[in-house]
Amino acid sequence: MKFQSVTGTKDLLPSESFLWQRIENVARSVFERFGYAEIRTPVFEDTNLFLRGIGETTDIVGKEMYTFKPSPDSDESLTLRPEMTASVMRAYLQHGLGGQFPVVKVYYIAELFRKERPQKGRYRQFWQLGAECIGSALPESDAEMIAMMMMIYDELGVTNATLKLNSLGDAETRTRYRAALRDYLRPHYERLDAVSKERFEKNPLRILDSKNPDLQEIIAGAPRILDYLDEESNAHFEAVRTYLDELGIAYSIDHRLVRGLDYYSRTAFELVSADLGAQDALGGGGRYDGLAEQLGSPKPIPAVGFASGIERLWLAMERANLLRNIPQKKPDVMLVAQSTKAQTWIMKTANEWRRKGLVVEVDLLRRSLKAQMREANRLGAKFAVIAGESELQTRKFQLKNLRSSEQTEVEEERLFDAIKAQVVESL
Ligand code: AMP
Repeated sequence: MKFQSVTGTKDLLPSESFLWQRIENVARSVFERFGYAEIRTPVFEDTNLFLRGIGETTDIVGKEMYTFKPSPDSDESLTLRPEMTASVMRAYLQHGLGGQFPVVKVYYIAELFRKERPQKGRYRQFWQLGAECIGSALPESDAEMIAMMMMIYDELGVTNATLKLNSLGDAETRTRYRAALRDYLRPHYERLDAVSKERFEKNPLRILDSKNPDLQEIIAGAPRILDYLDEESNAHFEAVRTYLDELGIAYSIDHRLVRGLDYYSRTAFELVSADLGAQDALGGGGRYDGLAEQLGSPKPIPAVGFASGIERLWLAMERANLLRNIPQKKPDVMLVAQSTKAQTWIMKTANEWRRKGLVVEVDLLRRSLKAQMREANRLGAKFAVIAGESELQTRKFQLKNLRSSEQTEVEEERLFDAIKAQVVESL
């Protein structure tokens, strides 16, 4: 039988993993420069966490969660995490992190699971990198979050993207706005599609998300939430905008960027790429001051965060030809054996040099000298050391620079330093 990976899932092969690691390393480096520490939470959680923490009217909870019982007669219901924010807030509350630090700043790089119809840029198991800042209600934390996200893209070279920004105000803003939106849509009700009709009652803000071309004209004429902002939210939004201007971060206001859930508040943002097709959202985030209470906190805890899809980021980098420039780690040296005795010397020497920090390759197939040299070149090794009977007797070895084909004789005790010096030089 031939097994294949399940549709909508992907293998990350050794020939690609260094590119993935590069993305992770840049992200970690940026996160750490902003003072964020990593958090890792379990891959599955109590289903109720996501029902509460994401909202039952969302697509994720409504139709995309992988939910299962650990055994047929169990009354426990578990769900593979479809996003990270709820899990992070759960961990924050469970461990009383807020009691230890007034502001908790965490990042994650995590795999998520959603029952989606797979297509380019949309998978059933995918990865996100993201961050949450819990404990500050001030616009500085919104601006910092956006700046941090943008710095990651910037350092990866993804610049062909637009940052969209909006504010959702407070709960009262949204009550007023929802009413205004319904008033506006009511005369157009018959022209709405079935999904939007359903949303009209349950969650009219989500009608603005519709990609149905027939509805675009109606949506374009809809009232704008920014015109309904309460005074404090307005000041908050202005402050975030001023910070972004000062930080040199360009954005455009997108009136359609609204989130249908009540625990979201104020700032909402999204980064879209011009290099991606239908699935053009690279990442997004916003403020969610109401989530903690939703998950059982006795008091509201302000928070803001973002999440970026790594596969989308990868795709954008691929389209912009950015993946080609990432150098793969190559062996510093390949030790080539010409006899059984030399093989032992090589095993021992390789181990020593690896301990001292060199990347050392050793042939594991006992191939001929010629085949080993070919392999050294194929792997892109910088040097080869050839060891045979005579070398072991004289304790002098041929050190071959595989880039210049230059060959020198070096005494055993000087070999490591000779290679090390030149490897460092070529960095
Ligand atoms: P969300 O958590 O839905 O706001 O998504 C945040 C980001 O995760 C999106 O902007 C995408 O980059 C990425 N993303 C969401 N769903 C998927 C998916 N099914 N496959 C790949 N990436 C996804």
